[in-house]
Formats: sequence, structure tokens, C-alpha cells
Amino acid sequence: MEAGVLYLVSTPIGNLGDITFRAVEVLKDVDLIAAEDTRKTKILLNHYAVSTAVTSFYSYNQVKKTPVLLDFLNQGKSIALVTDAGTPGISDPAYYLVTRVIQAGLRVIPIPGPVAFVAGLVASGLQTRRFVFEGFLPVKKGRKTRLEQLAREERTIILYESPHRIRRTLDDVLNYFGDRQIVIARELTKKFEELLRGRVSEILERISQKVVKGEIVLLIEGNPKTK
Ligand code: SAM
Repeated sequence: MEAGVLYLVSTPIGNLGDITFRAVEVLKDVDLIAAEDTRKTKILLNHYAVSTAVTSFYSYNQVKKTPVLLDFLNQGKSIALVTDAGTPGISDPAYYLVTRVIQAGLRVIPIPGPVAFVAGLVASGLQTRRFVFEGFLPVKKGRKTRLEQLAREERTIILYESPHRIRRTLDDVLNYFGDRQIVIARELTKKFEELLRGRVSEILERISQKVVKGEIVLLIEGNPKTK
């Protein structure tokens, strides 16, 4: 284990088996694990018999906690950063710490693994050669502008969305983008994994009588008119 290093360790997006041998080794060998949700991470650590100390690092304590973690690294100790699911730095608080660690002249080592949007994209059937990942759309301010920009986008568009906002987002996609091919990739790697493929209007119809639950990657065909 290298001294004074921040490891970005990718963890499963649902199925506990989706973690690399190297990730488990790193989690066992580091001096400290910084986790977005310590309770969730402890389930994973127990499963793999990892007994390393865990501390919390999430959006509401990141400013206060970063100097503490930097001190720790400067003492020559190593930290593994894990987030709720998937790869740290993708739509989660890891970016803030990564930039400070780099500014401090310390080393960051990625331990690659699952990313929800990549899993959704490759199984979607939409164009994978060129795509754009947008994370979560703004909920209020800037939403209209972002939707207008994205409507012109030729590459496959990938969004993260919560189940209680999916209908509103699909209504917006229909209004701003037209009746494009979309895919809802839901609960990937989990028991109720589902990929819904079709035009926006069809998908809206199919989910009209249902309560949509779970975690969602929404994929939208790029603008066919500008191609
Ligand atoms: N760092 C994560 C990654 O590498 O994908 C993403 C973290 S972001 C806070 C959480 C969002 O990712 C969820 O709201 C959902 O949109 C998406 N997501 C995470 N796990 C998922 C899964 N199993 N199936 C579908 N979407 C998932």
C-alpha cells in the first residue's frame, strides 16, 4: 500500500458481487475508509470481511472533513474513498476531495469498477459510439436552458433521475426533444432490474398506471435531424 495516497474505490451499484479483487484488497489494506453513507458501506465491508476503520465523507461535511483527511494523508497514511454506489466522482461528492488532494501535491489512484450510466448505456441498444453524460438535470434554475441545449445534441444523452421526478422529466423530454427513442434502465444489477425501450410517448403510456420505483438511468436518442 502506497503511503499518502487517496484511492478512489468503485463499489457495486446493487449486486454485492460487482466489485474487483483489487478493490477488496485496497479496502482491507488502507488505513482509513471515507464513505458517503457509512451504514451502506458497512454492509459491503461485512460481506467481504473488511475491518478497516470507516469515517463519513458526504456533501454536508466535505468542507469540514477535507482538511482532516488531508492531514491524515500528509502523515503518510492511505485513504480509500467510497461513495454510495459505483465510481466515486460520478454525480457524487468525491470531486471536491479529489481536487484538494491534487492541489496538496498528493497522489490519487483510481480503482475502476461499476458506473451506473455505463451499464445502462451498453444494454440500452442506443448509439454507444458517441454519447454525453449529463448526470442529474437541474430541478428548477437552469432546467429550461439545459433542456433547450440538449434538444440539439446529436450524441446519445444520458441522465440520472429519481423515480419521483421521472414522469416530469419524460414530459419535458417529449416537449423539448420530440417523440424520440428512449430507454429507462432501472435497478441495474438488482432483483427488479428492468430496461424499458420505446418512444417517449409509449413509455409514458406504459408507466401511466404504475408507481415507478428504484434507481434510474434515462437514455435518450441523440437529435436525428442534425445528423
Ligand atoms: N457514482 C455513481 C455511479 O458511478 O454511477 C452514481 C451516484 S448518483 C448519486 C446515484 C444515481 O445513479 C441514482 O439516482 C441513479 O440515477 C443512478 N444509479 C445508481 N445505481 C443505479 C442502479 N443500480 N440502476 C440504475 N441507476 C442507478
